Amino acid sequence: MIVVLKPHVDAAAVEDVKQHVIDLGYSPRVIQGVEHTVIAAVGDELSHRSLETLIGMDAVANVVPIQKRYKLASREFHPDDSAVQIGPYTLGRGTFQVIAGPCGVESRSQIQRAAKDLTACGVRIIRGGAYKPRTSPYDFQGLGEEGLELLAEIKEQLGVAIVTEVVGVPHVAKVAKVADMLQIGARNCQNYHLLEVVAEAGRPVLLKRGMASTIEEWISAAEYLIVHGCPDVVLCERGIRTFEPATRGTLDVAAIALAKQETHLPVVVDPSHAAGKRQLVLPLALAGIAAGADGIIIEAHPDPMSALSDAAQQLPSDAFHAVMDTIRPLARLMGKELGGPV
Ligand code: PEP
Ligand code: MN
Repeated sequence: MIVVLKPHVDAAAVEDVKQHVIDLGYSPRVIQGVEHTVIAAVGDELSHRSLETLIGMDAVANVVPIQKRYKLASREFHPDDSAVQIGPYTLGRGTFQVIAGPCGVESRSQIQRAAKDLTACGVRIIRGGAYKPRTSPYDFQGLGEEGLELLAEIKEQLGVAIVTEVVGVPHVAKVAKVADMLQIGARNCQNYHLLEVVAEAGRPVLLKRGMASTIEEWISAAEYLIVHGCPDVVLCERGIRTFEPATRGTLDVAAIALAKQETHLPVVVDPSHAAGKRQLVLPLALAGIAAGADGIIIEAHPDPMSALSDAAQQLPSDAFHAVMDTIRPLARLMGKELGGPV
């Protein structure tokens, strides 16, 4: 870290700051400028205490970190792309996956119809929430364990891999029995205790970006998962909250490109939650793929008008089919093949 002192501080104040730098475990190197004195604090910023506490000292103008707050997720640590295995299917390192399914598991007939329609289009990884984090307590909260059983049935019948959300620590073990990949939803991106428990479940994790998380906070959440024993993390950009009310979220296309540059982890785009309306799903999907996404997660429902959650953004089966046909050549152009044995 670099500690910038205020102009014209006296020698005693410089000594005082130096001593605090030493007390925090760093070696101080003083650089005397014409007006400003700067102290370079040498030491590993990941394993030492943060020097940001020094901002509270009268003599200190600013403290500037040099190291990133994440390491295991970074490309500096792991230069090559990582691929993640989701059941029998690979995502990343040239293999592009389409994850699709309804927002929530609503009934046996709904999830069975969805899974059949989607696998007929080549989808091998099915999503669907058994536990739904809803803004209103009066809205459909998911079928819970019954939803998990219905997901287990389609997994058995169709050989698909399952992605489903974990909303709380008490559900982790139950969900991990059925799911091939655990989803951490946007609302839990910074629920660090849940991240730690999910990391120990022995499953890959789809980590949605919080709707108000910075890219650094999102990657730091991935770092939590990796540090706590889950190396198989897939980052998911799903739109952030901005001042724009015309769409549900604002798809941060730059975050996809940046996450690919900064980390070795596969990145997927969720155009459904970013858009909030089905007419925008295809253009946002294309934008995400063009920005470098390794996969896509789309909400699709056999009868979206009857959906119990996120009805406006779910695609009916025919529109989903058209999306598949349109994204395939773009994924190829980006050097990726739509993956999975059919
Ligand atoms: C979902 O995938 O249905 C969901 C709730 O997503 P998010 O956490 O991104 O809002
Ligand atoms: Mn949803």
